Amino acid sequence: MAAYDVAVVGLGAMGSAALFHLSRRGQRVIGLEQFALGHDKGSSHGESRVIRLAYFEHPSYVPLLRRAYENWRELERLSGETLLTVTGVLEAGRPDSELVAGSLEASRLHGLSHEVLSAAEINARFPAFDLPADYTGVWQGDGGYLKPERASAAHRALARRHGAEIRSETKVRAIEPGARSVRIVMDDEVIEAGRVVVSAGAWIGELAPVLKPHLRLTRQVLCWYRPKTPAAFALGALPVFLIDGADDMVYGFPDFAETGFKCASHRGAEILASADAAAQDAGPADEARTRRFLERYMPGGAGELRAMKTCIYTMTPDEDFIVDLAPGDPRIVLASPCSGHGFKFASLMGEVLADLALEGGTDWDISRFRLGRFG
Ligand SMILES: Cc1cc2nc3c(=O)[nH]c(=O)nc-3n(C[C@H](O)[C@H](O)[C@H](O)COP(=O)(O)OP(=O)(O)OC[C@H]3O[C@@H](n4cnc5c(N)ncnc54)[C@H](O)[C@@H]3O)c2cc1C
Repeated sequence: MAAYDVAVVGLGAMGSAALFHLSRRGQRVIGLEQFALGHDKGSSHGESRVIRLAYFEHPSYVPLLRRAYENWRELERLSGETLLTVTGVLEAGRPDSELVAGSLEASRLHGLSHEVLSAAEINARFPAFDLPADYTGVWQGDGGYLKPERASAAHRALARRHGAEIRSETKVRAIEPGARSVRIVMDDEVIEAGRVVVSAGAWIGELAPVLKPHLRLTRQVLCWYRPKTPAAFALGALPVFLIDGADDMVYGFPDFAETGFKCASHRGAEILASADAAAQDAGPADEARTRRFLERYMPGGAGELRAMKTCIYTMTPDEDFIVDLAPGDPRIVLASPCSGHGFKFASLMGEVLADLALEGGTDWDISRFRLGRFG
């Protein structure tokens, strides 16, 4: 008999959530992480992540998001931590932009409560903004932000409470399907598990080469500023926002942790040759893009730069996720790092990945995330 029912490889957002859901279903589980837990080399660090319901990317994400919200609230109850703060989310741009049109379509299709605001209304309601007259905004009152490091730590702590074993600074070198179990090969040890969840983030192509041709890694830079008009950027005054500007989509958060006002570009990043090529090496040139955006649309935010961090997006060609059983071996579950918009789903993905590992399928509609769509 294999030593573990399920092994989870990679303990970032998705793996930590999967470990929790598997362990609370009574499975003998082990989680393996190559770096220290909560490290800043992957895709799940940087203080905050946007969560929103009216999903401009595609309306079919909305039912999944409803469940994700429920699961985040459950995680808060179980852990006693505040992980999700509702500030409202403002999405603004030209009326025909992907952001505004997509968010409106999702709102209307799913009957989500929202308001459409003119640029003048936005600029008056939220003094941080100076949007051009031809912009329009969609206000979703139930959007807000998550605390990613704390949320993943909460999933791991609860998993431990349910008996999960966790090993950090343990790199998995290979996953080898055997006749009776799957072998997890590390530098000086091999363990056997009945099933494996591969949630290795930007490194997933190393362990599941079948994914490699479909993934593009980009180096994203997060910036924290000391606003020139701090009151307009405080929690309560500034909502979480996404703006589809003339040459970039930029998103940001109110200064809820007194670390500064955080914002970042969603597009136009440098392509990385591998996940290991990423480093915390942001320099002045990296800030030019967001500063240009701020000067144009949020001039009170373009104050002194306080900090920068780099983080990896792992993009599929259609920017949808890959969550599927490995071709040829249903004991191996593949969970892609979700194209720069996956964190908000981690609370749901834990449940989905546990379903896939234990049942080979899930009642949640993840047909959009099948690997087979790439042919
Ligand atoms: C700058 C930035 C901003 C973002 N903003 C948002 C947002 O606002 N809202 C949102 O919903 N999403 C957002 N995302 C996307 C979201 O954060 C990611 O989709 C999500 O965090 C990915 O989680 P993951 O578990 O797949 O990857 P990770 O959290 O990176 O975890 C993968 C883990 O696997 C480990 N690992 C890899 N290989 C091995 C191995 N061989 N052996 C052992 N361990 C291994 C890694 O060390 C890592 O810890 C953002 C992403 C970035 C980078």
